[in-house]
Amino acid sequence: MRILQSRFDSSRVHQYLLIKEVLCYNNFMSLNTPISQLNRVGKVLERNLKHLQIETVEDLLNYFPFRYEDYSEIVPIQDLPQKEGQQVTVRGKIELIANKRSPRKRKVITEAVVADDTGQLRIIWFGQPFIKKILYAGDEVFFSGKVKSDMFGINMVSPGYEKARNTLLNPPSMGEEKGDVISTTHTARIVPMYSLTSGITHKQIRFLMTQAMKAVSQMKDWLPNEIRDRIDIMEFGDAIKAIHFPKSKEELKHAERRLKFDELFILQLRAELIRQSIKQSKAPQIRFDKKAIKEFVDSLPFKLTDDQKIAAWEIIKDLEREAPMNRLLEGDVGSGKTVVAAIALYSCILNNYQGVIMAPTEILAKQHFETLSEAFALSDVKIGLFTRSKKMIYRDKIEINRDNNLNEELSPSISTYLDISKKSFLKEIDNGELQIVIGTHALLTGDVKFKDLGLVIVDEQHRFGVEQRKTIREKSGDMKTTPHFLSMTATPIPRSFALTLYGDLDLSIIKQMPKGRKPVQTRLVDPHNRDKAYGFIREQVKEGRQVFVVCPLIEERGIRKGERGQLGNHSTFHIPHSISEKKTVMQEYEKLSKNIFPDLKIGYLHGKMKDTDKDSTMEQFTNGTIDILVSTSVVEVGVDIPNASVMMIEGAERFGLAQLHQFRGRVGRSSHQSYCFLFTDSNTEKVKERLALFESTTDGFKLAEHDLEIRGPGEVYGFAQSGMMNFKLATYKDQDLIKLARDVAREIDFNKCKSLREKVEKWEERVHLE
Ligand code: ADP
Ligand code: MG
Repeated sequence: MRILQSRFDSSRVHQYLLIKEVLCYNNFMSLNTPISQLNRVGKVLERNLKHLQIETVEDLLNYFPFRYEDYSEIVPIQDLPQKEGQQVTVRGKIELIANKRSPRKRKVITEAVVADDTGQLRIIWFGQPFIKKILYAGDEVFFSGKVKSDMFGINMVSPGYEKARNTLLNPPSMGEEKGDVISTTHTARIVPMYSLTSGITHKQIRFLMTQAMKAVSQMKDWLPNEIRDRIDIMEFGDAIKAIHFPKSKEELKHAERRLKFDELFILQLRAELIRQSIKQSKAPQIRFDKKAIKEFVDSLPFKLTDDQKIAAWEIIKDLEREAPMNRLLEGDVGSGKTVVAAIALYSCILNNYQGVIMAPTEILAKQHFETLSEAFALSDVKIGLFTRSKKMIYRDKIEINRDNNLNEELSPSISTYLDISKKSFLKEIDNGELQIVIGTHALLTGDVKFKDLGLVIVDEQHRFGVEQRKTIREKSGDMKTTPHFLSMTATPIPRSFALTLYGDLDLSIIKQMPKGRKPVQTRLVDPHNRDKAYGFIREQVKEGRQVFVVCPLIEERGIRKGERGQLGNHSTFHIPHSISEKKTVMQEYEKLSKNIFPDLKIGYLHGKMKDTDKDSTMEQFTNGTIDILVSTSVVEVGVDIPNASVMMIEGAERFGLAQLHQFRGRVGRSSHQSYCFLFTDSNTEKVKERLALFESTTDGFKLAEHDLEIRGPGEVYGFAQSGMMNFKLATYKDQDLIKLARDVAREIDFNKCKSLREKVEKWEERVHLE
């Protein structure tokens, strides 16, 4: 009985201890532990952390520093005069510390005198009287801060501080090395700096992070050992530890490499999954008919540039394969992508397959229709235009031959377009009479059914989703095959970045411009020369030219988040509100039409207009009824108004260089010399420098690279919100890592690496949810 009793007692004690352990976060912490259970997290801090999307220990661990300060070298006080202006750490004993009031501002000043074996240093804090309750004379303390000097000698103002023997803040397995008595969190080491919202201090985050370090060992490394060994990369948990509290610069570098690789690898894995699934399907095989293609190329009124030839060749090779092509054709505005597309289409037709071009807008579809009709004017090809609006335009070569004198040379200027009903149009597609169909995405909907679709070309819509691919296959006339796919874009995306962004696509780039183009003359116009510029515009209009005026969206910026300094991340986003696109455009329109050019015909375009109104305005601009078109950035990508010779951009500092370049590409599309005028009210050096670069080069890729560096991919390519490219560490400049991630991904057998497939699926879910 006694024995029983005592056993009972001891089990009670045991139970008690267990409960305590469970309750005590210090001993029991999982990755899912709510942040509120950490030491010293009250309601306020909890809420503030939530603003940073930190709710659990895992969130916290994934919240990386945005820069570091290297306080790892302790400087003897006597050497400080040579370090003026630099960030340093000293270690010394407080000899004296006192609060006093400043004579004028009645603020509390805390002053301390600190000494080491080599000298004395004065330290000053403003408005922080509590420090006197933390630091006492006799304490050994590390101070990290900037060295300054005044008439009393060397000093530091508001440095970071940490008592030398304070091991409380010390995370396990870091800091205290064998034989190393120094152990600090905030000073005397490479100190992490986090980007914060108001109400949180660096010290607080670091303190929480030291607690969270206990859970790091629970983080599973998602990279299989074979991959890790092969590419010699740090273990995940170690990398997380080191990214927060690196022991050395070397270790930090390894941690960054590992974590950057993760970010890049997941994108490449996803791309590879898509790629492999596409490659598994069968495509119509398009044989290369050398003679016929050569004849077609020879019939063009110009010689292809080398880049065009290479791109066409890459495409022809792809078309010959059994697996569907999945390629992106990149080329600056005016670089001549359409003719490359035409060669690909022609190759299809020669093999008795249909081809399709899809454009994002009706106007662009119509333009492609006209261009291709011209390109194929001499060959026996039937082309149709299919858009939302009811008019179905149809070009019937045979019809024309019948109507016109057969001997008369066909000239593209002869009106050869016929309207036909939707019903007969659909029939012509279905029975294969029509060889090339050009249209908007209306082609993907409704009753369109192709005969033998061999090639789908999508213009200015970089990605063709899985869903769209499926739809097109269902409409292709042969469910057993998947048509070849070519995407075209005028957005200059540097190659390494394109590999990250569109890893599933193969890439062809046209960099060369056709010979004989006159580069657009670009000028940043001084405000006092504004009238001169208007005068010049009037001259141009008198000569029959037309003018674009682009005004910026005025937006107020919301919270900035996640800005990274030295490591170059750009997950900054802003929440635009109170944008009034309409207001901006209408104000400019009023000004120009009433005060500046009352005698000219001025039109406007903004996003709030109905599509039909937009189309009719564009129509009037295209046919020359409107002289000057005022708009925001909605000026359609790719719209071709060869007669427009001036692009005038207001508030130029508000646009990225890549976007400015897109605007500039709207002019200079004919033999007329064209001009781009930039206006800005900003006088900052940075703006001037950027715009000067824009003035000095017409190389879209160069501008895009500069832009990427300054503003980051999210803003440059407009997917800041999508979550896809919200890298914390990696940038497009990590070319070696991008390539490595791609190479590793390409060799993955997803049937063997199920966990990697799952990881991608989970990641996609998260990204889509964001
Ligand atoms: P983009 O790449 O912007 O779509 P386009 O295909 O519309 O460019 O071509 C722009 C213009 O350049 C068209 O008028 C086209 O006929 C012409 N062009 C294309 N290739 C050449 C070339 N190799 N030499 C001269 N002119 C060309
Ligand atoms: Mg084009």
